[in-house]
Amino acid sequence: MADKTLLKNGIVLTLDKKVGNFHQADVLIEGAKIAAVAPNLIAEGAEVIDASDMIVMPGFVDTHRHVWEGILRNIATDIPLEGEAGYRSLILSTLAPAFRPEDAYVGNLVGLYGAIDAGITTILDWSHIQATREHGDAVIKALQESGMRAVFAYGYPAWKAPDENQDKWIREIAKQYFASKDQLLTFAVAPQGPEFTAFDVAKAQWTLARELDVRISVHVGVGMAGKLGKLAEMGKARLLKDDTTYIHCTTLSDDELQMITDTGGTISLSAPTEMLMGHGMPPIQKFLDCGLRPSLSVDAETNAPNDMFTQMRAVNSLQKGLVFEKKLARKSGIPAFLAAREVLEFATIEGARANGLLDKTGTLTPDKQADIIMLRTDRPNILPVNDPVSAVTWGMDTSNVDSVFVAGKALKRNGQLLNVDLNRLMQQAYQSRDYVVSKSGFKLPEI
Ligand SMILES: [Zn+2]
Repeated sequence: MADKTLLKNGIVLTLDKKVGNFHQADVLIEGAKIAAVAPNLIAEGAEVIDASDMIVMPGFVDTHRHVWEGILRNIATDIPLEGEAGYRSLILSTLAPAFRPEDAYVGNLVGLYGAIDAGITTILDWSHIQATREHGDAVIKALQESGMRAVFAYGYPAWKAPDENQDKWIREIAKQYFASKDQLLTFAVAPQGPEFTAFDVAKAQWTLARELDVRISVHVGVGMAGKLGKLAEMGKARLLKDDTTYIHCTTLSDDELQMITDTGGTISLSAPTEMLMGHGMPPIQKFLDCGLRPSLSVDAETNAPNDMFTQMRAVNSLQKGLVFEKKLARKSGIPAFLAAREVLEFATIEGARANGLLDKTGTLTPDKQADIIMLRTDRPNILPVNDPVSAVTWGMDTSNVDSVFVAGKALKRNGQLLNVDLNRLMQQAYQSRDYVVSKSGFKLPEI
């Protein structure tokens, strides 16, 4: 018989419209799955966890993060994407080439434990640090050790043109680690995208992903590059399909957004980095007007904080600000305001959909995997809870994350990460950070 855990008497937000939300209910975990959600469940032999001061909900889903950048946290908050001292030059062309496999491993560990601590149960690791085959092994080892549900999205190295090794390694990695789709780690390809390479190269990278039957995650509509109509060329060549997540889309044309909609693509919005770094205004309203529901993503910890609370608030504030601006200007055709519930869905359900994992995670639905978080409601930053959905979307932060379960396994309990030696992690992080910074010749910012 599978292990059973009963989360008792919590405020339960299943986010599944058929199952409903509850002011008080229990969630039964059996093995890796959610067995039942209802008030007053009886489960003989189950370990009972008191959730009476908790909101119980699906774990957050991040659909695009360059996790290897974990050791470069906050190193570049005041620099733009482009230009001589910009992100592409500093992070991707100066610091990234200095990463050894062990540095990518440590960067990933730091990023992943930070994500778990913040209540994220699924992450897409957009890993464009693949200088050697060993970098791939190192990063995958960190993903495995973390216990998270993750999509390893193989990215071509960001600082040089890809060579024939990349495709060979992609095939090898797919075979060695991802022969089954029924595991915590799944595979995707993160091509350079048509704005950053020639059409034929972009096409070949997408074709390889499809040959391997894995999803594609691609940056498009990035600053001025997005104004060149490159995605439209891919669309006209009938290369856009429902297996692709389009990141940013900030400067795509209306026609290109329509192509994404028509072909069933999914979206990943990283509103804080898009605004901080000059990708262009996050097109949240354009998405909504097209019927596209975005997922959310941290993108780069060099700039943005590592949690989904920030993401939700950035998108919700921005959309409301833009609508109010129209109202104040007495314009016609005022769009509807985004509700807190919709934004919570972006951070969970839409994330699961964009990562190709909606059948496994994103809602607390019986028979789905038990990817569950418990958020404390007895803290001074949130009590009394008057509207649980808004409490999560607007009031809480990572200090409320009490427990995190992935596939029924506890990764955080009572506010503490499990299975990690934080002193050792800190040592590894500083050692790798020091090596990479020194090797690259970069100087840390003055204070
Ligand atoms: Zn990115």
